[in-house]
Amino acid sequence: MSKVITRFAPSPTGVLHIGSVRTALYSWLYARQQGGTFILRIEDTDKERSKKEFEENIIDGLAWLGLAHDEFYRQSERGAIYKKHLETLIAKGAAYLSKEEATEEGQRAEVIRFKNPNQVVTFHDEARGDISFDTTELGDFVIAKDFDTPLYHFAVVVDDFEMGVTHIIRGDDGISNTPRQILIQEALGAPRPAYAHLPMILAADRSKLSKRHGALAVTEYRDEGYLPQAILNFVALMGWNPGNDQEIISIDEMMKLFTLEKLQKAGAVFNIDKLKWLNKHYLKLLSIERVGEELLACFPDTLQKQVSQNPIIFSKVIPLILDRVANFSEVRSLVEEGELTYFFEDPRYLPESLLWKDERDPVRAIVHIDKSIELLRNVPSENFTTEGVKLALWDYATEVGRGNVLWPMRYALSGRDKSPDPFTLADILGKEATLRRLEEAKKLLQS
Ligand code: GLU
Repeated sequence: MSKVITRFAPSPTGVLHIGSVRTALYSWLYARQQGGTFILRIEDTDKERSKKEFEENIIDGLAWLGLAHDEFYRQSERGAIYKKHLETLIAKGAAYLSKEEATEEGQRAEVIRFKNPNQVVTFHDEARGDISFDTTELGDFVIAKDFDTPLYHFAVVVDDFEMGVTHIIRGDDGISNTPRQILIQEALGAPRPAYAHLPMILAADRSKLSKRHGALAVTEYRDEGYLPQAILNFVALMGWNPGNDQEIISIDEMMKLFTLEKLQKAGAVFNIDKLKWLNKHYLKLLSIERVGEELLACFPDTLQKQVSQNPIIFSKVIPLILDRVANFSEVRSLVEEGELTYFFEDPRYLPESLLWKDERDPVRAIVHIDKSIELLRNVPSENFTTEGVKLALWDYATEVGRGNVLWPMRYALSGRDKSPDPFTLADILGKEATLRRLEEAKKLLQS
């Protein structure tokens, strides 16, 4: 068996799309797994539509995902190679110059046409089995506008030949191009690579996936705070599965288990909730230092300063944040909604808020807060944990009514209608701040 060579061949006419990432990933995985070579080839023959910024976006996106290439090419820099092969085909009689229909200006440009041998072309697709096409209907198709301007099909075939590509893994919009490309290949005397066409990625309603179904550029997902490992896991399982219903799969496992035989034929459905779920999973696997850094980057200056003054509180808040967000951009919403501020500064609220719905008497509330303070003072600092605080208060709260004790305490600690339970809050804030906030609450009710 010859060495495996795969390629990802995007046209820089748009940003790196989540669907194209799948093509890139499978090509990369297969090459790496087989000890082969993975090529990145920028197909920029369409001068009008190709843009440098898209090329940069594609390169950045792949680098961020860790899909490193071994070789890099740009079709716009390979004119001489295409020209040489055009000349060879013409010399062989497999292509010829022909006059086009007159243009509006009355000029008749010359183009290069492929002399179609009019055969039925049958090729094997790893995902779909054998596919046959009668190529007669294609006629003598154009392969270049002139010697310096090859068209897409021709450049692709020459490149795959010159680069020794053994496996072409691409989207299923490539299927209808394949027979024409095989004809050119045969005329060039190029070996036929293996083909695997991947099923289309569909939106949840089975329509074609488009921008209105969410962000689609990989760099947008990056900027929203998704992790590369979540994106790769997500796209890996849209069109392939390891033969079981495993949903979490690492790159190492993919590398071990990936096979072209397990590619799916049916369209894969894009499910953003699944991506969020995966991202949440991978966020929790990050080191606390790394998450800390990422979170800090989402915080405004004031909050950053408070965090640096209260590193212990911050380290305890991190898991709570991770429970509530699927990506880092959701952290910004938490901050904006004031969901994090009270961990770092004493809250302000109206005294009535401290009263539990079934216990509206401030005098009774003061009694409960007072008793809570007394019970918590007796808890040694080293036992001032979620469990320790709960243990100290539970019997009393059960005796006089849990809401009567726990609501005012929770409100005193957070100043919010919704927050984690008071035991968790006390643990995060520590003994000193907890007692101070309870004293404050008492004063507020007394005033
Ligand atoms: N350049 C083509 C595209 O972006 C893909 C070519 C291929 O994979 O054969 O759609």
